[in-house]
Amino acid sequence: MMKTTSPMNRCTPVLNLITPFIEGKLSPDEELVVRAHLERCRTCAEDLRHSLFLAQLLKDNLLLPEPPENLAQEVLRKTGRRR
Ligand SMILES: [Zn+2]
Repeated sequence: MMKTTSPMNRCTPVLNLITPFIEGKLSPDEELVVRAHLERCRTCAEDLRHSLFLAQLLKDNLLLPEPPENLAQEVLRKTGRRR
């Protein structure tokens, strides 16, 4: 089904760069490639937006369940008193 002339082939390397692009790990040259492609390709621009959204969700999730130490201590204290 996939032809080598498919425009998807232009997107694939860019899609692979999107995650490091979000994390700011790309070289300036690579960043330029991604930006240039995103200006022309709505598919990848949408994908970037989606990835950014997911990255934000992940960040929020990582920040939410914060202090497991207090919780563990509390549980230990309670179980300790019961015994
Ligand atoms: Zn694309």
